[in-house]
Amino acid sequence: MNEATKTGVIGFPVDHSVSPTIHNYWINKHQINADLYKKISVDPKFFEEEVLRLKENGTLGLNVTVPLKELAFSFSEEQTEIAKQTRAVNTLTFKNGKVYGDNTDVIGFQRSLDKETVENNIANKKCLVLGAGGAARAVACALSNLGGTPFICNRTLKNALKIQQELRIQSEVIEEENLSTVIGEISFIVNTTSLGLGDTENNAVDFTQVNHRAFVYDLIYNPKLTKFLSVAKEKSLGYQNGMKMLIEQAAESFKIWHNIHPKNSDELMNVLEEL
Ligand code: NAP
Repeated sequence: MNEATKTGVIGFPVDHSVSPTIHNYWINKHQINADLYKKISVDPKFFEEEVLRLKENGTLGLNVTVPLKELAFSFSEEQTEIAKQTRAVNTLTFKNGKVYGDNTDVIGFQRSLDKETVENNIANKKCLVLGAGGAARAVACALSNLGGTPFICNRTLKNALKIQQELRIQSEVIEEENLSTVIGEISFIVNTTSLGLGDTENNAVDFTQVNHRAFVYDLIYNPKLTKFLSVAKEKSLGYQNGMKMLIEQAAESFKIWHNIHPKNSDELMNVLEEL
């Protein structure tokens, strides 16, 4: 019998991750010969050392979360085109002695969106991306793939300019103090910063100026209704949290490792709702 496959998620911190619930649900459902998917916390200083140890231990693959996606990109020996474009890796695979890097957040974000949202709020529209970290890179690429123009706005301007330069897509960078000059023209607003986790406030957008047809997305899924989304709800705007994206990016990583593309289901959503 073949040795059981080892997979997990690595981050710092990683306690908040619900990826083990999703992967272990599918491992059981599809009767994969695999150990339970684990959480691995590692200080960025020891990232390479720890990943090499896991590789030597016979690990097949790792999801990579905050703040290690850019380090994982540099560490991987071969990358998919989308990982090269985003310069961020959320899926590492160890195969034939080599380290492969992919970014499934891009397709995960795209698949999380309803057709109507894409048609009405993204295609040929101005989209605001709050943040300029690993997730912003994936979201800006996805919006561009769907025909939108990302306007990137971040606390640290130089990070926004850096991703604009590296992504090589049609995009704009907007300084925080100038956001009010464009906000009325924006039809899709997505928060990719970590503001809103726990009790933190996200006051980046003045919702009194937002177009009444705009759609508001927050990549955060815990809490389910961030304060950012609750303002959107109060204003009767369309809104969505990051749970579907989380499931879709996980499904794509699962396919890379186990060669099965699992489907999202009400049963899985219910399991996650109860956490
Ligand atoms: P990251 O690379 O560490 O980037 C964090 C971003 O947040 C940066 O733009 C940073 O701005 C900004 N930020 C942090 N603290 C801030 C503050 N106090 N005020 C203003 N801006 C602040 O992290 P990431 O990988 O992009 O992840 C970001 C979030 O997305 C996390 O909450 C993560 O859980 C979520 N995420 C969700 C999914 C999903 O599937 N739903 C997938 C990926 C990520 P500076 O550049 O100024 O530091």
